[in-house]
Amino acid sequence: MTMQPITLDTVLGWIRPSILRLTPYSSARGEFSGQADVLLDANESPFDNGMNRYPDPKATIVREALAELRGIDPSWITIGNGSDELVDHITRVFCEPKQDAVIYSPPTFGMYKVAAGIQDVRAVEIPLTPDFQLPTNALLEAADEHTKILWICTPNNPSGNDFPRHDVEYLIRSFPGLVVVDEAYIDFLDRPSYLERIAEHPNLVVLQTLSKGWGLAGIRVGAAFARPEVIRYLQAVKMPYNVNSLTQQTAAKALRNPEHMQAQVDLILAQRHRLEAELPRLDVVEHIYPSDTNYLLVRFREAEQVYRYLQNNGLVVRSRTRDIHCAGCLRVTAGLPEENDRLLELLAAYESTVSA
Ligand code: PMP
Repeated sequence: MTMQPITLDTVLGWIRPSILRLTPYSSARGEFSGQADVLLDANESPFDNGMNRYPDPKATIVREALAELRGIDPSWITIGNGSDELVDHITRVFCEPKQDAVIYSPPTFGMYKVAAGIQDVRAVEIPLTPDFQLPTNALLEAADEHTKILWICTPNNPSGNDFPRHDVEYLIRSFPGLVVVDEAYIDFLDRPSYLERIAEHPNLVVLQTLSKGWGLAGIRVGAAFARPEVIRYLQAVKMPYNVNSLTQQTAAKALRNPEHMQAQVDLILAQRHRLEAELPRLDVVEHIYPSDTNYLLVRFREAEQVYRYLQNNGLVVRSRTRDIHCAGCLRVTAGLPEENDRLLELLAAYESTVSA
C-alpha cells in the first residue's frame, strides 16, 4: 500500500510501453484545424447530404459542451462510443496482456471483466460486503505491482447504492494504481462528481455517460475525464472516427439543455419512489435495496418464476439471481407511470395465480 501521493509521472509510467511508443492514426480532419473551402483530402463523396464528410475525430463540439457544463477544460475529456468503449480503452492503455490485472468488487457492472478478458489480463474479484459496501482494506491488500486498475462503480450497478465518499476518497488516495470511478448514474443523485478531484489525483479517471439521465443510450456517448496527459493516450488507442456526426450533433445540442434532462430525471425519480412505496405491499417482494439511481434491486420470493411470468406477459426486467449477494434478486428500471402500473398489476396478478 502506498501512502505517498501518486505523481503524474508515476501514472504515465504505468502505461504499456507499446502504447507509449505508438504513433496514432493521423486522420485527414485531425491534421487540419483552419477554415477550408475545398476538401479534397479524405476520399469522401463531394455530394453534400449533410453526412458525406467524416466526423471530427476529437468530437470537439461534444467535449466543449461537456467542458462548459462541468466547468473544466476540454483537454481533460475524451469521448467514447458509449462508456463501454472507454472501459476498453482504459484497459488497453494500462494493462499488458498476460501480465497485468484489474480489480473490482462484484456484484458490479459487467464490462470491467469483459474488457479484461479481451485484453487477456487477470480480473481480481473482491466482493462487496453483503450489504453492498466497498471492502476497502481487502481491495488494497489484494493489489500488487501488476494490478493496474481499480474499478469503482458508484452508484453501483446492480445494487443501486452510492458508496460513502470517505471510502471512495480513501481508495483514490491509497490504491497504488489507476482508480476509475464510473459515475454512469450521477445524474440521479445530488452530490458533487468525483470529477472535482482529478486535478489533485493524477491516478483518478472519472467515467460518465449520456445513456441514463440524458436519455441518449441509442446514440452512444460516454466521457472519460482525466489529466490531459492521460487523455492523450486514451485517444491514441481509439478508432479515428469512433463517434459519428449525428451523435456529435445530437449530444452537443442535448448538453446545452440540461434543464430538459433534469425535468425527466425528476419524473423518473418520482416513479422510483412510487415503486419503493408500492412494491413492499406485495407478498412476492421480500426486500428492496436502497437506491440512488433510476432502478431498484428487489429480492423476490420465487424470483425465477416471477421473472418468467413477467417475461411471458411482455415485461422484461433484469435477472441478477446468479450474482454474488443477489440470490432472488431482479433489477427493475423505473419506467413511465403506465409502465410501472403494468409491472405492479402483473405482480399482483402473479400473486393471485399462485395463491389461487
Ligand atoms: N457503466 C455502468 C455502471 C453502466 O451501468 C453502464 C450501462 N449499463 C455503462 C457504464 C455503459 O454505458 P454506455 O456504454 O451506454 O455509456
